[in-house]
Amino acid sequence: MRTPIIAGNWKLHMNPAQTAEFVKSVKDKLPESNKVESVIAAPAVDLDALIKASEGSNLSVAAENCYFEDEGAFTGETSPKVLKEMGVKYCIIGHSERRDYFHETDEDINKKAKAIFRNGLLPIICCGESLETREAGKEEEFVVDQIKKALAGLTSEQVSSLVIAYEPIWAIGTGKTATSDQAEEMCKTIRESIAKLYDEETAENVRIQYGGSVKPANVKELMAKPNIDGGLVGGASLEVESFLSLVNYQD
Ligand code: 13P
Repeated sequence: MRTPIIAGNWKLHMNPAQTAEFVKSVKDKLPESNKVESVIAAPAVDLDALIKASEGSNLSVAAENCYFEDEGAFTGETSPKVLKEMGVKYCIIGHSERRDYFHETDEDINKKAKAIFRNGLLPIICCGESLETREAGKEEEFVVDQIKKALAGLTSEQVSSLVIAYEPIWAIGTGKTATSDQAEEMCKTIRESIAKLYDEETAENVRIQYGGSVKPANVKELMAKPNIDGGLVGGASLEVESFLSLVNYQD
């Protein structure tokens, strides 16, 4: 049985004071973590505030990115080792915004995944096709290739514990959600590709989120799909009430 995982991805929003205020408002209203895992991914500069504010609550903390080296002469980067020391649990890698604007490659993402595991964190690995790729009918091939490259060299135990987020680029911040059938179809394809790369058990264990204009109005329908185990939510995770309705979608 996979525990559903709903994660807010705050992107470049919020400061430490707003973070502490937000967590104070939600911390006692989160679902039991064995029913739904509630996660917030915040900018690196807010993580300390997020961790302190969420102490003793059911909220898990994620970073939005990290580097693939633990330390060294890498000006401006974030160490996965320090994220672990701070109390971070997850780290998002391979978000399409990082692939597009910061030129993150499949190879970088694979190195980051390994660095994340080496430090005892868990990756949330993003994948997803552009509208152009979908219109060319190549979306499955494209996403499966991203997954293969991201997971290269990881053990089945590692893959069982990580999270994949399928985020079609054309649905991010556009208000255009993939239909629940389109989202389910790709999440199923991803799971099948993991069964081929590893085995059935690993594929059954891995949690796959859908992301792209998830909101309180569509979360239930998406979460009802057998291969969708969660959501990675941008815009709708920035408001207290909306975040609470997302994580409490089972009520
Ligand atoms: P929106 O929910 O704002 O479409 O963003 C999705 C996303 O990119 C989450 O990582």
